[in-house]
This record gives sequence, C-alpha cells and structure tokens, in this order.
Amino acid sequence: MKLNDNQLKLLKESMKTAKNFSGSLYASKFKDIDIDSINTQEDFESLPFTEKGELREGYPLGIQAVPDEQIVRIHSSSGTTGTPIIIPYTKKDVDDWAFMFARCYETAGITKKDRIQITPGYGLWTAGIGFQLGCEKLGAMAIPMGPGNTDKQLKMMMDLGSTVLCATSSYALLLAEEIAKRGIGDKIKLKKGVIGSERWGDKMRQRISDELGVELYDIYGLTEIYGPGIGVSCAREAPMHYWDDFIYLEIIDPKTGKVLPDGEIGEIVISTFRKEGAPLFRYRTHDLSRIVPGKCACGSPFPRIDRIIGRSDDMIKVKGVNIYPGQVEDVLKNIDGVSSEYQVMIDHLNGKDIMTLFFEMNNGADKEAVENAVGTAFKTKIGLTIVPKGVEIGDLPRSEKKSTRIFDNRY
Ligand code: ZN
Repeated sequence: MKLNDNQLKLLKESMKTAKNFSGSLYASKFKDIDIDSINTQEDFESLPFTEKGELREGYPLGIQAVPDEQIVRIHSSSGTTGTPIIIPYTKKDVDDWAFMFARCYETAGITKKDRIQITPGYGLWTAGIGFQLGCEKLGAMAIPMGPGNTDKQLKMMMDLGSTVLCATSSYALLLAEEIAKRGIGDKIKLKKGVIGSERWGDKMRQRISDELGVELYDIYGLTEIYGPGIGVSCAREAPMHYWDDFIYLEIIDPKTGKVLPDGEIGEIVISTFRKEGAPLFRYRTHDLSRIVPGKCACGSPFPRIDRIIGRSDDMIKVKGVNIYPGQVEDVLKNIDGVSSEYQVMIDHLNGKDIMTLFFEMNNGADKEAVENAVGTAFKTKIGLTIVPKGVEIGDLPRSEKKSTRIFDNRY
C-alpha cells in the first residue's frame, strides 16, 4: 500500500510530538532517530516496529504522549500474561473513535432508524463502549445490554424490536440457537449482525446468519488502536474496508519483518495518524490478513483487508512457503468428502521438508479420489506439494486450539 505525502506528513508530525514528550515510550525509542530525515516510504519502512511487550513494560502509563490534563479516559486489554496494557485517550481520540465507528455502521448500511442491541462487555474493555459511541454518533438507538442474561436479551430484542445485533460470534450463535429452541423467530426483527473480528469459521457464520435471518458484517479493531471500529466489511462475505485517514496499515512477513506486496498474506502492522493519548507507530498486531488489491464494487474509496485468517504466532514455513492453520481449513472446506478435523505433520527427511496432512473423510468417501483432490488443491492454492492422508471420522484428536493441529517435527 502506497504511503502518500499527506499521510507521511501526518505521521511525522505525530512521531515528533510523541518523541518530544519526555518519559514516554517514543522519547526513548526514537531518541537516535532524526524524524526530519524520514522523507520516503522506504525511510518509514526502516523504522523499528513497536511490540506489544513494550507497551506492557510501560505499565501503567508509559505509552502516554500528552500531559495528564488532556487524558479523559483509559481502556485496557485483558492481559493473557498477567500485566494488562493500558491505553489513555484524549477527548479527540474518543471523538475520532466514535466517528470511525459510526462510519462502520454506515458502511454496513445501518441508519439512525435502526435499534442496535449491544451485547459485548462494557468497562475497561473497548468493545461495548465502542459500539455504543458509534451508535450515538450515528444517531441510532442504542440498547446497551452488555453480555449475558439471555432471557433479558431476548425479551428486549422482542419488545424493542432490535434491528441490529452487535456480538461476538460465539454469543451471536448462542442467541441464535436459543431463538430457534424457543420458537420465537417470528417475533425477532433483526436484519443485521455486526460481529467482532476474531477468526470464526464459515460454518458458524452460515449458522448464525441462517438462524437469525440476518446479514453479517465483520468489524475490526484492537484496544491498542482505539478499539473495534477501524474497519468493517461492506457486504456479506466481503473483505473489510479500513479507515486510511486514521491509520496506516502495512502487511509484513512475520519472520523477516519485510513489507509484503499487496495481495500477499502476512501480519498487519498499524501506525496512527491522529492519535494523541497513545500514538503508535509500526505496531505489530500479530493478526494475519492481506491487502485486497483494487477498488470495491460498493464504491467506497477506502482500501480493504481480508477477514483475519489467524495469528502470526501460528505461522510455519515449509519449503519456503508460509502456511497458516486458516489456509489449511480454507482448502479443506471446499473439497467434497472431507470433514472438518485435520492434523498437519512436518518432518525433515533426507534433506527435504515433508508436510503430511491428515484429514478425516466423511463415511463412504472414495479415499484415493479425495486424497488426490486435496493434494491438487494444495498445490494450486498454496503452491506446496504435500502428502495427503485421508482417515476415518473419529481417528484424529479433537482440539479447541487451532495451533495444536500443526506439529513441526523438524527441530
Ligand atoms: Zn466495499
């Protein structure tokens, strides 16, 4: 993605401000960097990345880049390792976030006539409040439920005639199943679902969409960069538009750190143009996606990224080709006779990497034909020759975590 002159100007101004705020992360990180000498995209791409660990080390407010009196709020990411990351916001940051979020709703075709039931959590987490801010900015009616209490959720959904459901994919599915179980589908007025962008399977998507009778939109974001609302899909099955007037997005090879050409899958790296409280430059999100080249049929001028296909920590390299669990699933799901369970084994034999893909086959499938189809699909779609091995349903271990389906025995 090309970095234009105006974007570079905004980045430089923001980097200078951050560097000049004594005691902040970037005061030390950019200490030896002359920001005035950054004049091209190449110069910018030579800057160091910012890692999540650096934000954690700065706990609680090491990332803050403006005086205390300008901070109006903080949010925090849940720390899987114990120490959370705290992100301070100025009034302008909160306004900008609301503006971007309202744009997400608009892109999904939601208007001020809609009634938006918000089920993600409120509080330190950015989710509930983000959905709420955007809704109020748009001028729609917010129904701020927060998570849980399914009885009450469904009662409000019916009594108020909610037209939009904001939820995680798992909670949307739970509500959908509950509605089906209770046989109250005809009392539900939902038209659209806006779903947080953790990676979720097509089968789940289809079930939620069918059972609720809604169109689903993916929304993208992370606490470190405002929160949800920095991008959204514009139609069913579509990639997500992201707001390149607020963020600069790069896709890098997670192993080498090199910026990849548009269209190639890699890790999303984000820089902020206008963020005041906690600006970030070249922040590694560890989310995997790709820039979708070309203009969208919807007419939006904003660039696009694909749905998130996984985490860069799950990436493996075989014979020089990067592979992610999400890609394996994508290949398998389109082949007749293949069930959803699989396991990947990577070995190094006689100087060569060998990838064996075990997958369960539906009862009655023709083993040889299915194996050939899997091998060919892998070669065409991913560019890798593998050893496909069909096994019977129930032969492979069940696991919740995608990463435990890949076993790298090379080292
Ligand atoms: Zn579009």
